[in-house]
Amino acid sequence: EKHGVPYRQTLQMRRDYIGKSCKLHFEVAPIKIVRGSKQYLYDDTGQEFLDCVNNTSHVGHCHPHVVSAGQEQMAKLTSSFGFLNDQTALYAKRLISTLPETLCVCFFVSSGSEGNDLALRLAASYTKRHDVICLDGAYHGNLGTLVEISPVRHRKNHQIKDWVHIAPTPNTYRGKLDSSAPNPGPLYANEVRKIIQKAKQNGREIGAFISEPVITASGIVVPPENYFAHVYNYVHESGGVCISDEVQCGLGRCGEHFWGFQMHNVVPDIVTIGKPIANGYPLAAVITTKEIADSLTDFSSTFGGNPVACAIGRAVLDVIENEKLTSSAKNVGKCLKDGFKAIQHKHPMIGDVRGVGMLVGVELVMDKTSKKPAKESAEILAYKLKEKKIIIGIEGADKNVLVLLPPLCFTTDNARFVVQNFSEALANIESEAASVGLTDRNEIPVVSGVDVPLDVITDQPTISVHSYSDEEEDDEDEDKAIKRARYEEVD
Ligand code: PMP
Repeated sequence: EKHGVPYRQTLQMRRDYIGKSCKLHFEVAPIKIVRGSKQYLYDDTGQEFLDCVNNTSHVGHCHPHVVSAGQEQMAKLTSSFGFLNDQTALYAKRLISTLPETLCVCFFVSSGSEGNDLALRLAASYTKRHDVICLDGAYHGNLGTLVEISPVRHRKNHQIKDWVHIAPTPNTYRGKLDSSAPNPGPLYANEVRKIIQKAKQNGREIGAFISEPVITASGIVVPPENYFAHVYNYVHESGGVCISDEVQCGLGRCGEHFWGFQMHNVVPDIVTIGKPIANGYPLAAVITTKEIADSLTDFSSTFGGNPVACAIGRAVLDVIENEKLTSSAKNVGKCLKDGFKAIQHKHPMIGDVRGVGMLVGVELVMDKTSKKPAKESAEILAYKLKEKKIIIGIEGADKNVLVLLPPLCFTTDNARFVVQNFSEALANIESEAASVGLTDRNEIPVVSGVDVPLDVITDQPTISVHSYSDEEEDDEDEDKAIKRARYEEVD
């Protein structure tokens, strides 16, 4: 086999040995990826896919400058825990130079979740309070504490912890408050003020407010003007601190600025960054003020800030600077968003187009009046785009927002290609829905053009297509089914 293990075996081993709750981008006929370069991914058959979702590979998959920095350092020293090392010191200095003056002390860890957990610890050690306000559309990570402040992933009957206070996501398209209000920013901020007051009445003090600058898990919700300015004031007045989770939005992705919070004209007390900082290598950082940093008496992380991670981190900053990726995020991101805005009027299902820089979300609805989320259509559209070799993500509480957060080397040609294919595929879905007079895609039994025997590929089919009885299948049929699932010829 040219690329190692045959596809079928990889799939089988995944089923056998990896936890079911670990989701794949495509549960049906998942793509087996073997190589990445720039904004492209290559599967085991050599097919090239345009990657619109991998914000972790921030400066492009396997950027040669980043790869050689990592390789060189790996051959010298990989672990420096408990010792002085130039890579760690130089990287900390460089990262801090991108931030406002007050944010001047770094902690290094190995994932965004670890970063946010440490941010909560720092907030608690500094304020001596443990209560946290988060947004109802938030996701902040996979550790115990963070699951509690990630309501978007809570199951129906999740018991909210008494230290968690949940504020409405400032969504002006389908938010809790009247979306036509003239000044929604302060209006939504007032909800946070009310939470602080109510907590006080109940004898609780808020230690921290945590939010992303753009709420990605809610489907790229950009908070309205002055929302954060007001919220940060309320939190600071009451003695709490503000955490900006920049795991998805930081490092130039928002286009105009290097950090997401900068577009809101606020300065957080603690910043966390992960995903993009080492272009896919595990590294994350928490940057805070001297006072907050000094309030924590003990912290250690074996892998946090190891010299390989830090060498790679520095190389990533080099590339962002050398290739002017922040301004590219602004220009190409604008082209992408404008492209979707331009097709919005001819698509009854495009309810909203939003975003900033290279963070773009397109919300699909059953119709623009009811705004009923079109979850099934969003999923079908993602599969149709997969056929066109475009990988796009789905987010939002209702899983009806198509999201694009590509590597920052994404081009305007890529943007036009995506918008054109998106428009064609969606038109197809819309006309099919109109022709059968359906109001809900759930009722459509077959995914048009995607002849996929789902049950063979996944135990949990998400789209209902003609069903095979999985377990009883003989080998030959399974072969055919898998081939068909991968869109290859079956005689
Ligand atoms: N914060 C945000 C906003 C995230 O999107 C994520 C990951 N998707 C995390 C934190 C957690 O990062 P990690 O998966 O690296 O632990």
